[in-house]
Amino acid sequence: SHSDETAQDFRDMGLKEDVLRGIFSAGFETPSIVQQRTIKIIAKGSDMIIQSKSGSGKTAALIIGMLQLINPNINQLQAIILEPCREIAKETYSQIAKLGEYVNVKAHSVFGGIYYREDIIVLKNCIHILVCTPGRMLDYLRKDLISASGVKIFILNKIDELLTTGFKDQIIEIFQFLPESAQVCFSSSTTIPSDVSEMAEIYMKNPVIITLKINELTLDGIKQYYIQSEVEAKFAILEDLLNAMQISQAAIFCNTKISLETLVQSFQDSHYSVSFLHSDIDDRQKEVAMRNFRTGSTRILIATDLIRNFIDIYPSVFIHYDFPFIFENYITRVGRSGAYGHRGLSICFITQSEFQFLKELESHFSTIIEELPNDVSSLL
Ligand code: ADP
Repeated sequence: SHSDETAQDFRDMGLKEDVLRGIFSAGFETPSIVQQRTIKIIAKGSDMIIQSKSGSGKTAALIIGMLQLINPNINQLQAIILEPCREIAKETYSQIAKLGEYVNVKAHSVFGGIYYREDIIVLKNCIHILVCTPGRMLDYLRKDLISASGVKIFILNKIDELLTTGFKDQIIEIFQFLPESAQVCFSSSTTIPSDVSEMAEIYMKNPVIITLKINELTLDGIKQYYIQSEVEAKFAILEDLLNAMQISQAAIFCNTKISLETLVQSFQDSHYSVSFLHSDIDDRQKEVAMRNFRTGSTRILIATDLIRNFIDIYPSVFIHYDFPFIFENYITRVGRSGAYGHRGLSICFITQSEFQFLKELESHFSTIIEELPNDVSSLL
């Protein structure tokens, strides 16, 4: 048991003064549940797998543990963080800048795509932390532009996505450049895929595994509403809703691929650009859909439940275009394992004949789902 490792206050984690200062100045007051259970262990140098919903504080936990481990007086690359895409790499880099503000470490992030001469200059000088996508990392290592021989900690953030986006071979090759002594940490927002367990067996030494299960998801902080509508009227109502609410981004859930395809068609007929994900689209298309949504080039993401477990997004609005008759799907669609970072709005379509299921859903989760008010402009 690692319960003795749990610390409910950042001050009880044995962190260096300058690390602690960065945490507080970033506005973190109390550690999330994930952070209570992981930071001390990471900072002690254990290999670790953290699995919990996005927004539960995994990335921040890994960064804090990493900042504690780096020795700013050694002019060598000491930490590598791999991210599935450049948008997330950028977010992580800015979290490092915030949390590490008082620690005298140099971080840099490089992304796939164009080759920057600046990067090469920066890499030649001392940097302690490098955040990047696997392709670019491997490129630098192969070209010997950077040495990984002093790496103390290797973090694969969102390993579920790193593996679904097809970086597996590159990651395996990157491992060959690292010292055997390097600490290895994985984070995942979904259940741990079998490739991950396989990798853990090969590259980790007695990893500590911290899992926050789906049933620990909560609807706290989610405002929940329903709209009663018959099937034929749903799309027109949805369109009105999207216009009236001035929603920046919405995720819309369908129960089946067929229902999803019908909805996508309706949106396309109305000249909306939407991203969509279901089990039959390939990894490349998934990656494009997620990237378009993440970067805001599409405002609407339509998904089936099968896919919900594999996407790590948190828009302001979730719409259940099809009612989740499997109640667990409701909480998987909108629930949070940590209330940090985001609040959400959930809107369920329900037909008159299905109405009893809404009542059952409410009692299943001991929650209240109200009718959507006429004036929706102030809901967000
Ligand atoms: P995850 O990696 O699990 O998706 P993050 O670590 O990215 O979660 O955290 C989600 C958001 O919450 C980020 O914006 C982060 O800065 C913020 N955050 C993380 N931990 C805390 C905390 N203890 N207090 C306040 N905000 C936090």
